[in-house]
Amino acid sequence: MLPSLVPMTPVDLRSDTLTRPTEAMRAAMASAEVGDDVYGEDPSVNALEEQVAELFGHEAAVFVPSGTMGNQICLRLVVAPAEELVCDADAHVVTYEHGGAAQHGGIQSRTVPGGPMDVETVASMVRPAGWGTVATSAVSVEQTHNRGGGAVQPMEVLQGLRRLTATHGMALHCDGARIWNASVASATPLEAYGAVFDTLSVCLSKGLGAPVGSLVVTDSARAAEARVLRKRLGGGLRQAGVLAAAGSYALRHHLDRLAEDHRRAGLIADALGVGPVDTNIVPVDLTGTAFDGPSLAAAAREQGVLLSVVGPQRVRLVTHLDVDDDGARRAAGVVARLLER
Ligand SMILES: *Cc1c(COP(=O)(O)O)cnc(C)c1O
Repeated sequence: MLPSLVPMTPVDLRSDTLTRPTEAMRAAMASAEVGDDVYGEDPSVNALEEQVAELFGHEAAVFVPSGTMGNQICLRLVVAPAEELVCDADAHVVTYEHGGAAQHGGIQSRTVPGGPMDVETVASMVRPAGWGTVATSAVSVEQTHNRGGGAVQPMEVLQGLRRLTATHGMALHCDGARIWNASVASATPLEAYGAVFDTLSVCLSKGLGAPVGSLVVTDSARAAEARVLRKRLGGGLRQAGVLAAAGSYALRHHLDRLAEDHRRAGLIADALGVGPVDTNIVPVDLTGTAFDGPSLAAAAREQGVLLSVVGPQRVRLVTHLDVDDDGARRAAGVVARLLER
């Protein structure tokens, strides 16, 4: 038997968090001006916070170590302990944050069946405080939707949710870990997203390719409270400018190029016959194939392609900065052959 031609470097499509900072980004980090951010004196953090607030048309932004902390802080800003959050059952805030909203915020969540939500369903969930019931205080939307396969929620839906939440005096939160992808894919300005949400958590460490960092984006009063919550959670950082510099670099150089990730994800989706994808996530349902999630991941790994198992019969491939055209083609070829597509 001929030796198999296993490529030297695997194509790693498990997650867009895996991107390594480029040399140029590292250089920006190395030369960053820094100060103590807990004192509010780190010029690189302050510049990034101002820039991101402005991008979304909000008064303020607060740098936090992770998107999870960003979400946790935002939810506590808009939902008091024992009050209620409505989101979808697959949302990151109730799926992948180790129950933080419940533990840290004492927040009760009620979920609609997973995936992007429609306005009517959310409207049917809203409850006032009453005998035995607590008030629904906020609705959380994920943009793009991670478990929803990187789906972009249309602006009409977001505006409908905005009207609904405004009518009931509720807040609208955005888990915008990949809001950049949504903005690029749907040609929607970030400011337009900013206008519909009271709070947003946005990540620099996904498709933008920064090693660490997210921001809470909101009004000045909530931002002041966010700084208190951040410190209480142990997320107040000192010379964080080295991290902020990576984020600023990413916003300058890696925002528009997300379109390339989307194009490559489209190429992979086409090869696998899984239908069009909105952004950089290609979900693959393995029902009716010879594989389940773990066995496909193992077989692909043997041929130098790494993908994530996200359900017993479901895997995903995520394009990002470290996956070029060759890598995307190679991955598409390997997985298509395995699935006989
Ligand atoms: C990655 C992600 C987050 C935040 O994750 P961290 O790893 O804590 O930065 C939040 N929401 C969604 C939808 C995500 O994909």
